[in-house]
Amino acid sequence: MNRQFHLTILGSNSAVPAYGRFPTSQYLKINDHKFLIDCGEGTQIRIGQYRIKRNQIEHIFISHLHGDHVYGLPGLLTSMSLNDRKEPLSIFGPVGIKEMIETMFRFSRAYMSYELSFIELDLTTKTEILVLPGVKISAFPVYHRLPCYGYMFEERFGEKNVIKEKIGEYRLSVDEIKALKRGEDIGRPGEVLYNTNLTHPTPDPVSYAFCADSIARDSLASVLKNATAIYFETTYLDDMKEQAAERGHSTAKQSAILARKAEAKVLITGHYSSRYRDLEAFRQEALAEFPNVILGRDGEMINLLDYQMS
Ligand SMILES: [Zn+2]
Ligand SMILES: [Zn+2]
Repeated sequence: MNRQFHLTILGSNSAVPAYGRFPTSQYLKINDHKFLIDCGEGTQIRIGQYRIKRNQIEHIFISHLHGDHVYGLPGLLTSMSLNDRKEPLSIFGPVGIKEMIETMFRFSRAYMSYELSFIELDLTTKTEILVLPGVKISAFPVYHRLPCYGYMFEERFGEKNVIKEKIGEYRLSVDEIKALKRGEDIGRPGEVLYNTNLTHPTPDPVSYAFCADSIARDSLASVLKNATAIYFETTYLDDMKEQAAERGHSTAKQSAILARKAEAKVLITGHYSSRYRDLEAFRQEALAEFPNVILGRDGEMINLLDYQMS
């Protein structure tokens, strides 16, 4: 298997494009799967700049229906059709995403060359929404001014591989081999054959939690527990924490404290307010609370396998 877990930040600003930063969008490649997360204005431009093949995107995950996360979508979907895309495409998002896009397409009399399906979410707890070979994806509610979801992408490994030489050495039966593949130990009269001694080790799964626009509530720490990498919005610095709370957003300090409580390996920041031209203060504020911070900026490419546990 060609193991990959690679994130590209396409847009890192909040409400409006500013200082070379577009609104939220991210491209995530896990093995051979290609996902787009949010689709703010400018996403198509970044896709072109970073040489991403838009027709290979299989699934799009939309956090919420604020324009800075979704206004790039009608244009992108139409371009895919103009490129004569044939592969089906599914879009996950909050209730209303289907009507929003279809209304626009109805007035534009847009023609789609491919099958477009919408999976509308109405969740109160973390829920598995998609299982693919090698990866599973869950959605979970976050705390914003309207229904808003985060998405957790987790590697999943298939059956374990038994070490060939051990089959003869221990005269393993077919049932015993099946049990070992499931990860079980083998109980025999007077002895236990431990799985770890008879199978090839499986790497610790890498996971990525995209947390959209949200207040950094403590309760999210359990939802995000042990995620390898967390993207959490840092719209403001902490001297703006009152405004952040009022507007359903977070500060760099709050996001970093949450990453620490969730015991993540790395925090990726983003969704910066246009009041900030320079972002270094975000890094410094987050680093005071959490040791491993990546300033998410347009064009940032992050190999999440670099942060796996072992
Ligand atoms: Zn936003
Ligand atoms: Zn928002």
